[in-house]
Amino acid sequence: MSSLERVMFRYKRIIPKFDDFLRCMKTPLPRTVRINTLKADSEEILQSLSEHGVIFKTFNWYEYGLRLLNVSSPGNLIEYFLGYIHTQEEVSMIPPIVLEPKPGELILDMCAAPGSKATQISQIMCNTGHVIANDVDLRRISMLKSNYERLGVLNMSITVYDGRKFPNIPFDKILVDAPCSCEGIYRKNPSVFDNWSLKVIKNLSRLQKRLLSRAIQIAKRGGTVVYSTCTFSPEENEAVIDYVLSIYEGMIKLEEIKLDLEYCSGIKEWNGIKFNDEISLCARFYPHLNDTGGLFVAKIRKI
Ligand code: SAM
Repeated sequence: MSSLERVMFRYKRIIPKFDDFLRCMKTPLPRTVRINTLKADSEEILQSLSEHGVIFKTFNWYEYGLRLLNVSSPGNLIEYFLGYIHTQEEVSMIPPIVLEPKPGELILDMCAAPGSKATQISQIMCNTGHVIANDVDLRRISMLKSNYERLGVLNMSITVYDGRKFPNIPFDKILVDAPCSCEGIYRKNPSVFDNWSLKVIKNLSRLQKRLLSRAIQIAKRGGTVVYSTCTFSPEENEAVIDYVLSIYEGMIKLEEIKLDLEYCSGIKEWNGIKFNDEISLCARFYPHLNDTGGLFVAKIRKI
Protein backbone atom coordinates (compact mmCIF):
# COMPACT_ATOMS: atom_id res chain seq x y z
CA MET A 1 0.00 0.00 0.00
CA SER A 2 1.43 3.44 -0.95
CA SER A 3 1.64 6.31 1.56
CA LEU A 4 -1.22 7.95 -0.34
CA GLU A 5 -3.50 4.93 0.10
CA ARG A 6 -2.42 4.38 3.72
CA VAL A 7 -3.29 7.97 4.73
CA MET A 8 -6.41 8.39 2.58
CA PHE A 9 -7.93 5.09 3.67
CA ARG A 10 -9.23 6.83 6.81
CA TYR A 11 -11.51 8.92 4.56
CA LYS A 12 -12.97 5.99 2.56
CA ARG A 13 -16.25 6.32 4.45
CA ILE A 14 -16.72 10.04 3.77
CA ILE A 15 -15.38 10.55 0.23
CA PRO A 16 -17.85 9.64 -2.53
CA LYS A 17 -16.57 7.46 -5.42
CA PHE A 18 -13.46 6.70 -3.37
CA ASP A 19 -11.71 4.66 -6.12
CA ASP A 20 -12.10 7.59 -8.56
CA PHE A 21 -10.73 9.87 -5.85
CA LEU A 22 -7.60 7.71 -5.36
CA ARG A 23 -7.09 7.42 -9.13
CA CYS A 24 -7.37 11.20 -9.55
CA MET A 25 -4.94 11.87 -6.67
CA LYS A 26 -2.27 9.95 -8.65
CA THR A 27 -2.61 12.18 -11.73
CA PRO A 28 -0.84 15.53 -12.23
CA LEU A 29 -2.73 18.70 -11.42
CA PRO A 30 -3.89 20.88 -14.36
CA ARG A 31 -1.84 24.07 -14.74
CA THR A 32 -3.99 27.03 -13.74
CA VAL A 33 -3.49 30.80 -13.45
CA ARG A 34 -5.49 33.81 -12.34
CA ILE A 35 -5.77 36.78 -14.70
CA ASN A 36 -4.71 39.88 -12.75
CA THR A 37 -6.91 42.79 -13.78
CA LEU A 38 -4.94 45.19 -11.55
CA LYS A 39 -2.26 45.26 -14.27
CA ALA A 40 -4.27 45.17 -17.52
CA ASP A 41 -7.71 44.43 -18.97
CA SER A 42 -8.52 40.77 -19.18
CA GLU A 43 -9.00 40.96 -23.01
CA GLU A 44 -5.50 42.42 -23.33
CA ILE A 45 -4.04 39.64 -21.16
CA LEU A 46 -5.87 36.89 -23.05
CA GLN A 47 -4.69 38.37 -26.35
CA SER A 48 -1.10 38.48 -25.13
CA LEU A 49 -1.29 34.81 -24.03
CA SER A 50 -2.78 33.80 -27.41
CA GLU A 51 -0.10 35.73 -29.31
CA HIS A 52 2.54 33.78 -27.39
CA GLY A 53 0.94 30.49 -28.40
CA VAL A 54 -0.66 29.68 -25.04
CA ILE A 55 -3.79 27.55 -25.33
CA PHE A 56 -6.17 28.09 -22.42
CA LYS A 57 -9.69 27.39 -21.21
CA THR A 58 -11.54 29.83 -18.93
CA PHE A 59 -13.11 28.23 -15.82
CA ASN A 60 -16.86 27.99 -16.16
CA TRP A 61 -17.36 29.32 -12.60
CA TYR A 62 -14.86 32.20 -12.48
CA GLU A 63 -14.05 34.48 -15.40
CA TYR A 64 -10.52 35.26 -14.16
CA GLY A 65 -9.39 31.63 -13.79
CA LEU A 66 -7.67 29.84 -16.68
CA ARG A 67 -6.50 26.30 -17.32
CA LEU A 68 -3.39 26.33 -19.49
CA LEU A 69 -3.46 23.37 -21.85
CA ASN A 70 0.02 23.47 -23.42
CA VAL A 71 2.24 25.11 -20.78
CA SER A 72 4.02 23.19 -18.02
CA SER A 73 5.72 26.15 -16.28
CA PRO A 74 3.41 29.23 -16.29
CA GLY A 75 5.92 30.96 -13.98
CA ASN A 76 8.25 31.25 -16.99
CA LEU A 77 5.76 33.12 -19.19
CA ILE A 78 6.38 36.81 -19.92
CA GLU A 79 2.81 37.50 -18.74
CA TYR A 80 3.82 36.16 -15.32
CA PHE A 81 6.80 38.53 -15.05
CA LEU A 82 4.62 41.44 -16.18
CA GLY A 83 2.13 40.62 -13.40
CA TYR A 84 -0.63 39.90 -15.93
CA ILE A 85 -1.15 36.41 -14.50
CA HIS A 86 -0.57 34.69 -11.16
CA THR A 87 -0.03 30.94 -10.89
CA GLN A 88 -2.75 29.75 -8.53
CA GLU A 89 -4.49 26.43 -8.09
CA GLU A 90 -8.17 26.40 -9.13
CA VAL A 91 -9.69 25.72 -5.69
CA SER A 92 -7.30 28.25 -4.11
CA MET A 93 -9.32 30.93 -5.93
CA ILE A 94 -12.47 29.93 -4.00
CA PRO A 95 -11.96 31.43 -0.49
CA PRO A 96 -11.57 35.09 -1.65
CA ILE A 97 -14.75 34.71 -3.72
CA VAL A 98 -16.63 33.24 -0.76
CA LEU A 99 -15.35 36.15 1.39
CA GLU A 100 -17.03 38.61 -1.05
CA PRO A 101 -14.81 41.63 -0.28
CA LYS A 102 -16.30 44.93 -1.42
CA PRO A 103 -14.42 48.02 -2.64
CA GLY A 104 -13.60 50.28 0.31
CA GLU A 105 -13.73 47.62 3.05
CA LEU A 106 -11.08 46.81 5.67
CA ILE A 107 -10.01 43.20 5.26
CA LEU A 108 -7.60 40.97 7.18
CA ASP A 109 -5.93 37.94 5.60
CA MET A 110 -4.63 36.39 8.82
CA CYS A 111 -2.37 33.70 7.26
CA ALA A 112 -1.54 35.39 3.98
CA ALA A 113 1.86 34.28 2.65
CA PRO A 114 2.79 33.83 -0.18
CA GLY A 115 -0.21 36.00 -1.03
CA SER A 116 -2.22 34.24 -3.73
CA LYS A 117 -5.51 34.86 -1.96
CA ALA A 118 -4.56 38.25 -0.47
CA THR A 119 -3.67 39.63 -3.92
CA GLN A 120 -6.88 38.17 -5.34
CA ILE A 121 -8.79 40.01 -2.59
CA SER A 122 -7.05 43.28 -3.68
CA GLN A 123 -8.07 42.52 -7.25
CA ILE A 124 -11.73 41.98 -6.28
CA MET A 125 -11.60 45.31 -4.36
CA CYS A 126 -10.07 47.06 -7.41
CA ASN A 127 -7.16 48.28 -5.25
CA THR A 128 -9.51 50.30 -2.99
CA GLY A 129 -10.14 50.00 0.76
CA HIS A 130 -7.38 48.22 2.63
CA VAL A 131 -6.09 44.67 2.95
CA ILE A 132 -3.86 43.74 5.89
CA ALA A 133 -1.87 40.69 4.80
CA ASN A 134 -0.47 39.02 7.92
CA ASP A 135 1.77 35.99 8.37
CA VAL A 136 3.95 34.77 11.19
CA ASP A 137 6.72 33.45 8.89
CA LEU A 138 9.21 36.10 7.73
CA ARG A 139 10.65 33.91 4.94
CA ARG A 140 7.20 33.47 3.44
CA ILE A 141 6.48 37.19 3.90
CA SER A 142 9.27 37.96 1.41
CA MET A 143 7.42 35.87 -1.23
CA LEU A 144 4.23 37.77 -0.38
CA LYS A 145 6.06 41.06 -0.86
CA SER A 146 7.45 40.13 -4.27
CA ASN A 147 4.02 38.87 -5.38
CA TYR A 148 2.18 42.02 -4.38
CA GLU A 149 4.78 44.22 -6.08
CA ARG A 150 4.71 42.15 -9.29
CA LEU A 151 0.90 42.14 -9.34
CA GLY A 152 0.55 45.93 -8.89
CA VAL A 153 -1.28 45.77 -5.55
CA LEU A 154 -1.62 49.24 -3.99
CA ASN A 155 -4.07 48.72 -1.12
CA MET A 156 -2.10 46.28 1.05
CA SER A 157 -0.03 46.50 4.23
CA ILE A 158 1.96 43.59 5.60
CA THR A 159 2.09 42.65 9.28
CA VAL A 160 4.00 39.88 11.05
CA TYR A 161 1.87 38.85 14.03
CA ASP A 162 1.08 35.46 15.42
CA GLY A 163 -2.56 35.42 14.27
CA ARG A 164 -3.62 34.13 17.69
CA LYS A 165 -2.54 37.48 19.15
CA PHE A 166 -3.59 39.78 16.32
CA PRO A 167 -4.46 43.25 17.75
CA ASN A 168 -8.03 44.24 18.30
CA ILE A 169 -8.99 46.03 15.05
CA PRO A 170 -12.60 45.79 13.84
CA PHE A 171 -12.36 44.28 10.34
CA ASP A 172 -15.25 44.06 7.90
CA LYS A 173 -14.08 40.66 6.71
CA ILE A 174 -11.35 38.21 7.68
CA LEU A 175 -9.89 35.27 5.80
CA VAL A 176 -8.28 32.49 7.86
CA ASP A 177 -6.57 30.29 5.28
CA ALA A 178 -5.10 28.18 8.02
CA PRO A 179 -1.83 26.24 8.21
CA CYS A 180 -2.88 22.61 7.74
CA SER A 181 -1.68 19.10 6.89
CA CYS A 182 -2.06 19.95 3.16
CA GLU A 183 -3.41 16.54 2.10
CA GLY A 184 -5.31 18.22 -0.74
CA ILE A 185 -2.13 19.43 -2.47
CA TYR A 186 -0.72 15.89 -2.91
CA ARG A 187 -1.21 16.10 -6.70
CA LYS A 188 1.13 19.10 -6.78
CA ASN A 189 3.50 17.95 -4.06
CA PRO A 190 3.50 14.23 -3.16
CA SER A 191 5.97 14.84 -0.30
CA VAL A 192 3.09 16.23 1.82
CA PHE A 193 2.68 12.79 3.42
CA ASP A 194 6.32 12.54 4.51
CA ASN A 195 5.58 14.16 7.88
CA TRP A 196 1.93 13.13 8.13
CA SER A 197 0.80 11.82 11.54
CA LEU A 198 -2.28 11.98 13.72
CA LYS A 199 -0.21 13.89 16.27
CA VAL A 200 0.58 16.61 13.70
CA ILE A 201 -3.13 16.82 12.81
CA LYS A 202 -4.08 17.14 16.48
CA ASN A 203 -1.58 19.98 17.01
CA LEU A 204 -2.74 21.77 13.86
CA SER A 205 -6.36 21.45 14.96
CA ARG A 206 -5.51 23.17 18.25
CA LEU A 207 -3.72 26.03 16.40
CA GLN A 208 -6.57 26.37 13.87
CA LYS A 209 -9.17 26.68 16.64
CA ARG A 210 -7.19 29.50 18.23
CA LEU A 211 -6.59 31.35 14.94
CA LEU A 212 -10.25 31.15 13.97
CA SER A 213 -11.36 32.16 17.48
CA ARG A 214 -9.19 35.28 17.31
CA ALA A 215 -10.62 36.17 13.89
CA ILE A 216 -14.17 35.87 15.24
CA GLN A 217 -13.30 38.01 18.26
CA ILE A 218 -11.91 40.90 16.20
CA ALA A 219 -14.36 40.87 13.26
CA LYS A 220 -17.03 43.60 13.28
CA ARG A 221 -20.56 42.59 14.22
CA GLY A 222 -22.25 41.79 10.92
CA GLY A 223 -18.85 40.99 9.45
CA THR A 224 -17.74 37.82 7.68
CA VAL A 225 -15.02 35.33 8.57
CA VAL A 226 -14.05 32.69 6.00
CA TYR A 227 -12.12 29.63 7.18
CA SER A 228 -10.33 27.43 4.65
CA THR A 229 -7.81 24.59 4.55
CA CYS A 230 -6.39 22.46 1.75
CA THR A 231 -6.82 19.23 3.69
CA PHE A 232 -9.42 16.51 4.13
CA SER A 233 -9.04 15.68 7.84
CA PRO A 234 -12.25 16.45 9.77
CA GLU A 235 -10.14 17.30 12.84
CA GLU A 236 -8.85 20.36 10.93
CA ASN A 237 -12.15 21.18 9.27
CA GLU A 238 -15.58 20.38 10.73
CA ALA A 239 -14.16 19.89 14.25
CA VAL A 240 -12.71 23.43 14.16
CA ILE A 241 -16.02 24.91 13.00
CA ASP A 242 -17.94 22.83 15.55
CA TYR A 243 -15.65 24.21 18.27
CA VAL A 244 -16.26 27.87 17.37
CA LEU A 245 -20.01 27.28 16.99
CA SER A 246 -20.12 26.03 20.57
CA ILE A 247 -17.74 28.65 22.06
CA TYR A 248 -19.45 31.58 20.27
CA GLU A 249 -22.99 30.19 20.40
CA GLY A 250 -25.53 32.91 19.53
CA MET A 251 -22.77 35.21 18.23
CA ILE A 252 -22.07 33.53 14.88
CA LYS A 253 -23.87 31.53 12.25
CA LEU A 254 -22.78 29.66 9.13
CA GLU A 255 -23.81 30.76 5.66
CA GLU A 256 -24.30 28.76 2.50
CA ILE A 257 -21.48 28.49 -0.07
CA LYS A 258 -22.88 29.18 -3.54
CA LEU A 259 -20.54 28.29 -6.40
CA ASP A 260 -21.02 26.66 -9.77
CA LEU A 261 -18.68 23.76 -8.96
CA GLU A 262 -19.34 20.24 -7.71
CA TYR A 263 -18.74 19.78 -3.97
CA CYS A 264 -19.90 17.89 -0.89
CA SER A 265 -21.42 19.27 2.31
CA GLY A 266 -19.54 19.28 5.61
CA ILE A 267 -19.79 15.87 7.29
CA LYS A 268 -22.18 15.23 10.18
CA GLU A 269 -19.94 13.13 12.47
CA TRP A 270 -16.42 11.80 12.77
CA ASN A 271 -15.06 9.04 15.01
CA GLY A 272 -18.35 8.89 16.90
CA ILE A 273 -18.48 12.65 17.56
CA LYS A 274 -21.59 14.31 16.15
CA PHE A 275 -21.15 17.83 14.79
CA ASN A 276 -23.55 20.80 14.94
CA ASP A 277 -26.22 20.42 12.19
CA GLU A 278 -25.24 23.82 10.69
CA ILE A 279 -21.94 22.25 9.57
CA SER A 280 -23.65 20.80 6.51
CA LEU A 281 -23.35 24.40 5.15
CA CYS A 282 -19.55 23.98 4.89
CA ALA A 283 -18.13 22.80 1.56
CA ARG A 284 -15.64 20.02 0.76
CA PHE A 285 -14.06 20.18 -2.68
CA TYR A 286 -12.55 16.84 -3.66
CA PRO A 287 -9.99 16.51 -6.50
CA HIS A 288 -11.98 13.99 -8.59
CA LEU A 289 -15.15 16.11 -8.66
CA ASN A 290 -13.69 19.04 -10.65
CA ASP A 291 -10.13 17.81 -11.48
CA THR A 292 -8.52 20.16 -8.91
CA GLY A 293 -6.71 20.04 -5.57
CA GLY A 294 -8.67 19.61 -2.33
CA LEU A 295 -10.26 22.37 -0.25
CA PHE A 296 -12.53 22.83 2.75
CA VAL A 297 -14.29 26.16 3.23
CA ALA A 298 -16.71 27.61 5.78
CA LYS A 299 -18.39 31.02 5.74
CA ILE A 300 -19.16 32.48 9.16
CA ARG A 301 -21.29 35.55 9.84
CA LYS A 302 -20.77 37.41 13.13
CA ILE A 303 -24.27 38.35 14.29
N1 SAM B 1 -3.21 32.20 2.14
C1 SAM B 1 -1.92 31.86 1.56
C2 SAM B 1 -2.02 32.00 0.04
O1 SAM B 1 -3.12 31.85 -0.51
O2 SAM B 1 -1.00 32.27 -0.60
C3 SAM B 1 -1.47 30.48 1.98
C4 SAM B 1 -1.44 30.35 3.48
S1 SAM B 1 -0.76 28.83 4.07
C5 SAM B 1 -2.05 27.71 3.79
C6 SAM B 1 -0.82 29.05 5.78
C7 SAM B 1 0.07 30.15 6.30
O3 SAM B 1 -0.16 30.29 7.72
C8 SAM B 1 1.57 29.94 6.16
O4 SAM B 1 2.12 30.95 5.37
C9 SAM B 1 2.11 30.02 7.60
O5 SAM B 1 3.35 30.71 7.69
C10 SAM B 1 1.01 30.80 8.29
N2 SAM B 1 0.93 30.63 9.75
C11 SAM B 1 1.22 29.53 10.50
N3 SAM B 1 1.00 29.77 11.80
C12 SAM B 1 0.55 31.05 11.88
C13 SAM B 1 0.17 31.89 12.98
N4 SAM B 1 0.19 31.44 14.24
N5 SAM B 1 -0.23 33.15 12.71
C14 SAM B 1 -0.25 33.62 11.43
N6 SAM B 1 0.12 32.86 10.37
C15 SAM B 1 0.51 31.60 10.58
